Amino acid sequence: MSIPLGDGSVILAGLQKNSFIDFPGKISAVLFTTGCNFVCPYCHNADLARGEYPTRIESAQVIDFLKSRINMLEGVVITGGEPTLDSGIFDLCGSIKSLGYPLKLDTNGSRPDVLGRLLQQGLVDFIAMDIKAPLNRYGPFSPNPKIHERLTASIRIIMDSTCGYEFRTTCAAPFVNAPAVETIARTIEGAACYVLQPFNRRAACLDPEFNRRQDPTLFPDEMIRLKALAAPFVRHCIIR
Ligand code: SF4
Repeated sequence: MSIPLGDGSVILAGLQKNSFIDFPGKISAVLFTTGCNFVCPYCHNADLARGEYPTRIESAQVIDFLKSRINMLEGVVITGGEPTLDSGIFDLCGSIKSLGYPLKLDTNGSRPDVLGRLLQQGLVDFIAMDIKAPLNRYGPFSPNPKIHERLTASIRIIMDSTCGYEFRTTCAAPFVNAPAVETIARTIEGAACYVLQPFNRRAACLDPEFNRRQDPTLFPDEMIRLKALAAPFVRHCIIR
């Protein structure tokens, strides 16, 4: 887990100074929090998820960096790990927003209370929420048997907000197939944007056996089929 400081600041595991792909349409800096309450077998950020990432950066250092790049960067992304687990997230978002940066938050959707508070306080401009599988099939991802209730609440909070947002599914077998994508798309019916992400088999995973047991990659023609299934339920559906 990431380590909240007494003054509400956050110790971050990493800072990517420039990204062209993490915040739609913006050149952004990306901040990585550590620790996650999910155990997705295909997680590419295993050290971050376990809270074992070797580097630590105090949020005050990151704020100094962001101050120095005000005329160069167009936004900031906070990702993880799971950023909503850290009680310092409100102060961190507030500090970033006070510099005038649009802020994007990546989340697994497990903390609807935190998302609601961040939105209520106007501390985020864009939320990207992962939907790993149909909400009643989260056993491989979360130890919480009632996680579907939290995920449903997060989806509602996000879709009812005025914030920019997207829902994202990593398309990895055996968790994601045509019926799964159709079920997810029905769950988020009317959503502004649904992103289907192909699984990248070359990356190391949280479960080291995951890649070895079977090839989880879906072929491009399968991805196109999934998109065709999901598209009628949402306003915009893309493969990224
Ligand atoms: S992929 Fe899963 S385990 Fe990894 S950081 Fe995201 S939610 Fe956590």
